Amino acid sequence: MKILVINCGSSSLKYQLLDMADETLLAKGLCERIGIDGHLTHKPQNGKPVFNEDVAMPTHTEAIAAVLDKLTSAEYGVVSSMKEIGAVGHRVVHGGEKFAASVRIDASVMDAIAECIPLAPLHNPANITGIEACRAVMGDVPQVAVFDTAFHQSMPGKAFTYAIPYEYYTDLKVRRYGFHGTSHRYVARRAAEMLGKPLDALKLISCHMGNGSSICAIDGGKSVDTSMGFTPIAGLPMGTRCGDIDVSILEYLAANTGKDVKELTNILNKKSGVLGVSGVSSDFRDLDAAAAQGNERARLALEMFQYAVAKTVGGYVAAMNGVDGIIFTAGVGENSADTRAAICRYLGYLGVEISDERNAKRGEDTFISTDGSRVPVMVIPTNEELVIARDTRDIVEGK
Ligand code: ADP
Repeated sequence: MKILVINCGSSSLKYQLLDMADETLLAKGLCERIGIDGHLTHKPQNGKPVFNEDVAMPTHTEAIAAVLDKLTSAEYGVVSSMKEIGAVGHRVVHGGEKFAASVRIDASVMDAIAECIPLAPLHNPANITGIEACRAVMGDVPQVAVFDTAFHQSMPGKAFTYAIPYEYYTDLKVRRYGFHGTSHRYVARRAAEMLGKPLDALKLISCHMGNGSSICAIDGGKSVDTSMGFTPIAGLPMGTRCGDIDVSILEYLAANTGKDVKELTNILNKKSGVLGVSGVSSDFRDLDAAAAQGNERARLALEMFQYAVAKTVGGYVAAMNGVDGIIFTAGVGENSADTRAAICRYLGYLGVEISDERNAKRGEDTFISTDGSRVPVMVIPTNEELVIARDTRDIVEGK
């Protein structure tokens, strides 16, 4: 079965077409500036040329139509007709407490995704738009929703409850949800394969470190705690998000800057994190370069990030009463050997020992710990699209 994976944002749409016979990527691409003017970058993986041009996209429906046109065209295509596409898998950001697993989309699922809009006001409407656009262009091809939050629904109450009046949870659903679930789930399964042990017998800590970063404690294959919270702003300092801060700062800043909560929240999401501290960039490559040239605030931002990761890992070792493997993934986790090494230096008390030679490798699933390290440490490039495609296939085939 060939499966189209869609990750729809408010003005963008990323896609991949996978052949699930051997899990190969047939094509991938990106629609940008939807609703503004429109631009399509389409990359077939079969040797045909890349298409990289403006295409009018007044709505997501024209974007999906343009994607299907390219996927099936003689010049840029990878399939002969749309009929070859057996199903569509959508990344949906928030499933609230309604979804603990992926699900085939029908009218009641659409209603439930819409009910989660207050929890993800920017993301869920875009995801709904993407699903509706696919239905408009592809008719009744089965569609599946894969939620960023679903994997974390296994967290116990002690991990997901905030210490605020309980009715804010019962009435308004304020609790820790966690995100990046698809990524944490993927790397945990791969780690079990690499360790040659069943996933349900392992205690793992997954460090997803990209523009957005989160850490997950995975006990027996189930998420038992994670660092993002009610929203993705919580936990570690990130590219532009502040991570955990004292909530009273908000009132203090409102009183002293004249900015309202909305404006300040925007600053905490978009102008904080390593960008805010360094004043240089949200990109860890720029920070590494600036720190190497002696920029003290860039160095501080990097140190704060590494320290926060190490403290969170330590907390999760305590939460699970042990750890059998630590995983690094996503942009920074997969590429920055220095960041990984710096984090692992904090973990000497666990018996973690890194091999510089192994840590220098890139782009493949690999152990970076020495053979003598008491806890194995792995780098596993994440593949959320593959998880979405696998879930979609399994659900459509009734597995
Ligand atoms: P997103 O959270 O947007 O999916 P990614 O997982 O793609 O982000 O990670 C993007 C981040 O990865 C960039 O901001 C950049 O800081 C970081 N990154 C990529 N390559 C390197 C590298 N070689 N060294 C350090 N950081 C890197």
